[in-house]
Amino acid sequence: MSSWPLPISTNTTIPQPGTRGGFWEFRGDRHHAGIDLYAAPDCDVFAIENGVVVEVTQFTSPDILHYWNVTYSILLRSESGLLFRYAELGEALVTPGENVKSGQLIGHVGLVLNPDEIGPQDPGYIQELKSAGLPSMLHFEMHQSQPDLTEYLGGNYFSQLPPAQLMDPTPFLQSIRRDINSK
Ligand SMILES: [Zn+2]
Repeated sequence: MSSWPLPISTNTTIPQPGTRGGFWEFRGDRHHAGIDLYAAPDCDVFAIENGVVVEVTQFTSPDILHYWNVTYSILLRSESGLLFRYAELGEALVTPGENVKSGQLIGHVGLVLNPDEIGPQDPGYIQELKSAGLPSMLHFEMHQSQPDLTEYLGGNYFSQLPPAQLMDPTPFLQSIRRDINSK
């Protein structure tokens, strides 16, 4: 049984591919590697499927880009063998090697963007997130195998085409949402 990664009362809106926060959204010089589920900072994040934690890493930092805060990423290998990245977390509650269950609390949403640091020189999509009041989210990616990190930065690929292992999570998340709504 799969679980929705956020409290159901919070956000079950799945952005369509190519639109804001959607898979492979074009962002001027980069493409979005996953899907953004907008949520307030500190919102609970749950494991979608049973699996094992592969790695927990720092994902963003003001040392890398001035408009970022520090956030973390959890990479989980699910029972099906797929790799799920839960990122832009303020806190990770699991450690590498740990087994997790579907629905288990694994972390909390972080405040990835620092609105005070976003100005006219920054990427248009970042300015639009500031205007829309959407500085925090769960960034979710699906991979068939170990993520390709060449031309990758903070949830985006600078390549024209998606790397071979990257999957569009839209149909998968839609199927989970259908299951939840039919209960
Ligand atoms: Zn994202």
